[in-house]
Amino acid sequence: MNLILFGPPGAGKGTQAKILVDKFKIVQISTGDMLREEVNARTDLGKVAKLIMDSGDLVSDEIIMSMIEKRICKSDCEKGFILDGFPRTLKQAVDLGEILENLNKKINKVIEINVDEELLIERIIQRAKESNYNRGDDKTEILKNRIFVYRKDTLPVLKYYKEREILNTINGMQNIEKVTKDILELLKL
Ligand code: AMP
Repeated sequence: MNLILFGPPGAGKGTQAKILVDKFKIVQISTGDMLREEVNARTDLGKVAKLIMDSGDLVSDEIIMSMIEKRICKSDCEKGFILDGFPRTLKQAVDLGEILENLNKKINKVIEINVDEELLIERIIQRAKESNYNRGDDKTEILKNRIFVYRKDTLPVLKYYKEREILNTINGMQNIEKVTKDILELLKL
């Protein structure tokens, strides 16, 4: 089972992905986490990525696609994977389609966790307060930019999957347990 968890920053994608990983024994692939590992390891890629991440902009499609291509080929993805925070641009979605086709794989479902903007802002501010250095990108000053970028670059991805009839929307304004319950219900179908 290969899934995409879709939603704006702060929608709870990471939290739900971890629950699904435990339940289905599949792997979570978070491009944000992969980039943070590069930042922490102070690699060249990490140094470039940090500046971009701290501004709330998107890291280039080329960097992201080369990371994803390597990751998805690994043997631990055989049983399935959950993409969290990827794809974030139409180009990434199209390129992902090609990579998967070459591997004889496909995305079974895209799950959009839909949240209302005010709640979202509240959650991100909360996360910023609790954040350590690694989540410096969540500072409230850049929140607006992250949401702007989401609307401009990432929302078109939803339309792409809707046209392919694999998009499902969950109400993300419920508590964590209820969101999980709705996702599990959806996966039964
Ligand atoms: P996240 O933890 O998923 O919110 O990602 C944190 C930051 O990493 C984002 O604000 C982007 O700067 C960068 N990033 C993560 N995933 C992607 C992606 N798929 N495409 C471009 N940039 C990304």
